[in-house]
Amino acid sequence: VRGITVRRDKLAACGMAEARRLLRDHGMAVSGLSRAFASSASDPAVRRAALDECRRAVDEAAALGALFLTMLGEAPRDGSKDLEGARRRVRDALADLLPHARAAGVPLAIEPVHPMNADACCINTLAQANDIVDELGEGTGVLVDVYHVWWDPAVEAEIRRAAGRILGFHLSDWLVPTRDVAFDRGMMGDGVIDIPRLRRLVDETGYDGFHEVEIFSAADWWRRDPDEVVRACVARYATAC
Ligand code: ZN
Repeated sequence: VRGITVRRDKLAACGMAEARRLLRDHGMAVSGLSRAFASSASDPAVRRAALDECRRAVDEAAALGALFLTMLGEAPRDGSKDLEGARRRVRDALADLLPHARAAGVPLAIEPVHPMNADACCINTLAQANDIVDELGEGTGVLVDVYHVWWDPAVEAEIRRAAGRILGFHLSDWLVPTRDVAFDRGMMGDGVIDIPRLRRLVDETGYDGFHEVEIFSAADWWRRDPDEVVRACVARYATAC
């Protein structure tokens, strides 16, 4: 295990200097910094504040030497049901952030999020993410997370389309039944995702970055001994991916 994603809340809790020391002492590369939201707001003041926050996230990613900053598209807020408008404003927010990200040398990795989480994130398919990358160009890419894309009939075509622009690849499994569509992810091999197929498709694009295990699991894996979890990740990566 040679790399890790850093969460911004954990980074804030321990501080940049201590985070850098921990990463260096343990020989860990930083795959991504997770995460920032591209704003769906209409109010210019809210959008400015969100853009400032995103710029801080870019600066943190640069300071950590992260390979990219994970970007999510914020769903409509405050009772709005204007999902299509939110998607346009998210795209505009990414475009507004891009000059700062390019100057800092931090690519923006747009991560589509499973549509069962569309109440939180409005970029829900790899096609949407690819469309934005087509439009915005250099300094943007996609993050392919099997948990978010496995159900998509277009996933094969869209992974192929993403060749050369895949910045990250996340592994976990979709449990059946699931107790929660966000926080009950399974260990690879325990659910219904054809992970080897998706991994092969990603590998075939020429992607040579990290294969990263990401298991949000409030009731199970998060409660276990971290050493046991890492051992299980390594073992299942070898047998189920
Ligand atoms: Zn992910």
